[in-house]
Amino acid sequence: MGLYDAIVVGAGPAGLAFASFFSGKTLLIEKHKKPWKRIACAEWVPPSLDIEPVQSIKGMVTVYPGGEKRVPFRGFIVDREKWQRELLDGLSCEVHLGEKVIEVKENEVVTDRGTYRGEWIIGTDGPLSTVRKEAGLPPHPLLPAVNVRVPIKKPLENTWVIFSSEIPGGYGWCFPKGEFANVGAGAYPPLYPALKFTLDFFLKKGFIKEKIIETAGGFIPLGGVKEVVKGKIILCGDAGGFTDPLTGAGIQYAWETGKLAAEFAEGKICREGFEKEINAYRRFLERRKEKRKIMEEGWENLK
Ligand SMILES: Cc1cc2nc3c(=O)[nH]c(=O)nc-3n(C[C@H](O)[C@H](O)[C@H](O)COP(=O)(O)OP(=O)(O)OC[C@H]3O[C@@H](n4cnc5c(N)ncnc54)[C@H](O)[C@@H]3O)c2cc1C
Repeated sequence: MGLYDAIVVGAGPAGLAFASFFSGKTLLIEKHKKPWKRIACAEWVPPSLDIEPVQSIKGMVTVYPGGEKRVPFRGFIVDREKWQRELLDGLSCEVHLGEKVIEVKENEVVTDRGTYRGEWIIGTDGPLSTVRKEAGLPPHPLLPAVNVRVPIKKPLENTWVIFSSEIPGGYGWCFPKGEFANVGAGAYPPLYPALKFTLDFFLKKGFIKEKIIETAGGFIPLGGVKEVVKGKIILCGDAGGFTDPLTGAGIQYAWETGKLAAEFAEGKICREGFEKEINAYRRFLERRKEKRKIMEEGWENLK
């Protein structure tokens, strides 16, 4: 049983960022054989992320029960499958695919194939994080969300979101991606009526064709950022709660916190500097939670 400088659990954006920036001896463990496949995601990223875009977004149209409003909104729709696959292929560290982490005991990571020891354990295993649980931290409150890929009927340049009492606790979306669109909903259960409502809405608008190419579901952590470092365990991305509880967006935060954790674990930034950066996310996401609370009161009354 060799000793690694870092064992990274999960090859999503946070784990890929950590493994890309950390220069010590690293083992990346990922439970799926092809983690880039069937990712539940609308694939919107802000311009600050350097990912090759499939489509540029110029604005966002928000649909309320009372009408529609368009605002300028810059961003890109990316091919997350391609991005994650290329990042994974480009890693120089040891990567174990199709291996599931079951237990974390201090510096030891136990999987369904073996036991490994690491100086640092990096929890980048998403919203249902095993590493988080093993660190003794409470699970996140979660919002279920589902995305389907459909062909479009006509070119679209805006992202569309719908708020409705038919989509309680979240919203429906239609994000154009070239000849396709990512259409989905995040809502309190049951989720599928909210998805159907959203699909029907965009079908009636004449935006999309009645054909589902791919469906993928997941969860959005809503609780914000609490404890992130526990002994030698660092939580990044969704595992650490770095997800916007209003929009559900988390790719940017996953990438940034994975990179930040790599700099901290490597000693490039001190503990104080790391905490300061984490606090900035914590405060921002707390404000978003407050905003969400205000919206929560309105959802049921949306007509
Ligand atoms: C329907 C939907 C749409 C979304 N749309 C957007 C969007 O448009 N833009 C945006 O910014 N964000 C979006 N998000 C959120 C975004 O997908 C997440 O914030 C982001 O993926 C977080 O990255 P991560 O690396 O922290 O976790 P993940 O991407 O969840 O990666 C975690 C990895 O860990 C692996 N893993 C889990 N458990 C184990 C284990 N025990 N052992 C080994 N490996 C394990 C998983 O297989 C996975 O590969 C969406 C989320 C959903 C559900």
